[in-house]
Amino acid sequence: MEIIHVSAECYPVAKAGGLGDVVGALPKYQTELGHIAKVVMPMYRTKFLYENEWELVHQGDQRLGAHFFHYNVIKERNNKLGFDLYLLDIHGLLDREKIYGYDDDTERFLAFQIAFCDWLTKWQHKPNVLHCHDHHTALIPFMIKYCYEFSLSLAAVPTVFTIHNAEYQGWIGWDRSYLIPPFDNWKGGLLEWNKTINPLASAVKCAWKVTTVSPSYMDELKWNANGLEDLFNYEMGKSVGILNGIDADVWDPLKDSFIHKNYDERLVKEGKKKNKKELCGQFNLDPDKPLISFIGRLVGEKAADVLPDAIRNSIYQHEGNANFLVLGSGDPYVEERLDDMKSQLGGYFNTHIGYHEGLSHQLYAGSDFLLMPSRVEPCGLNQMYALRYGTVPMVRSTGGLKDTVKDFGDWQGYGIRFNHANVQDITHSVGRAIDLYYNKKDLYNWMRSYMMQIDHSWDYSAAEYIKVYESL
Ligand code: ADP
Repeated sequence: MEIIHVSAECYPVAKAGGLGDVVGALPKYQTELGHIAKVVMPMYRTKFLYENEWELVHQGDQRLGAHFFHYNVIKERNNKLGFDLYLLDIHGLLDREKIYGYDDDTERFLAFQIAFCDWLTKWQHKPNVLHCHDHHTALIPFMIKYCYEFSLSLAAVPTVFTIHNAEYQGWIGWDRSYLIPPFDNWKGGLLEWNKTINPLASAVKCAWKVTTVSPSYMDELKWNANGLEDLFNYEMGKSVGILNGIDADVWDPLKDSFIHKNYDERLVKEGKKKNKKELCGQFNLDPDKPLISFIGRLVGEKAADVLPDAIRNSIYQHEGNANFLVLGSGDPYVEERLDDMKSQLGGYFNTHIGYHEGLSHQLYAGSDFLLMPSRVEPCGLNQMYALRYGTVPMVRSTGGLKDTVKDFGDWQGYGIRFNHANVQDITHSVGRAIDLYYNKKDLYNWMRSYMMQIDHSWDYSAAEYIKVYESL
């Protein structure tokens, strides 16, 4: 089977979050299962671009509204990622340093999707499945069916759309509908939700199958989908939740080149101790106390706004018996509050504001607990990385966190779960973590080596996706 993944991110080419991790791993595992999986993404000016060799495979011209643009498609020469990787270059629009965050993101990703469809019309042999990821590629299922210049050759290509996060829907006002290539006006309703063009909703309507990244999140979308609840209820029949896996080659404490001391489940105690010592030295924290870390985007979805108060309260209430470390970036107000706390709570708390891939690996390896109080968590990869690195996840019971973490109070549980993203629940969970660390050492050690052996690799889920494709 030949599958084309279309995405805005793919690790290690460009990553801003879980989407990048998934698109960097899933095609690799599908290739290992004997299929041909390819990835097409925008060409940004990232390190990966300059460090690898490329060949030009296609050039074309297209239109975005009244503007004509030229695009190039380049292919990585040496199969570095274990699958064919294509970058689509539109000079002046896509070739920037960051993935997102520009005023013209709508135009950028629309042009990317138009150029991709245009390129695909030129292929003599069409793929068996087009797999689009998140709202940046969500207009493709509509465009290949109803835009006149693509539909003739592409309407029959089956499409799968995966929702990594339904909070971001890519809304475009109808006043800018002229940016979409001419389409069958009778089908205009398939673009719309709540009086605006909603790419995510459009993909849910137009794709042959819809998937999300965990079964619980699929269920949650029926009553909590940022305005799309009715649509998800209506389209449940063609929707399925498949839990993400982790790339066991990239996230392996025994081979990880970012961390100070490699270890596996047999050496977890010594290995983590050494990594923790380095980390605590770097951030002026006490290595003898339990280290509780947070890694992620500092946004409301992750409940980052409650972090400052919850950390401060936990330190006071538990008399400084735990240390805290935060790695993340996002809401400037939260960033500023965390930064201010550094001087007030020095020795108990520290933070690195920004995105730092290597440091994130060091935190997974060197921390004792990983805190994830998320309000919304479609799947969450961090807790699975934590498990693989023997770091006890402390999670709010939601979405994928519910599907992957069992509370240690339950039979063979290996994590800490709580119900509310608020100061009280977090403080209480910190108390349980401290108790586990100091008073239940045998259980704590058993949990660490047990959780490291849980198989969260892509083997199972990659095959589940193949079943979805085959059902088309
Ligand atoms: P989301 O995609 O919603 O941000 P996920 O849990 O699915 O959340 O994936 C987050 C990914 O991004 C993980 O690989 C995590 O380690 C990484 N990550 C998030 N913030 C940072 C950061 N500031 N520095 C390094 N890695 C980060």
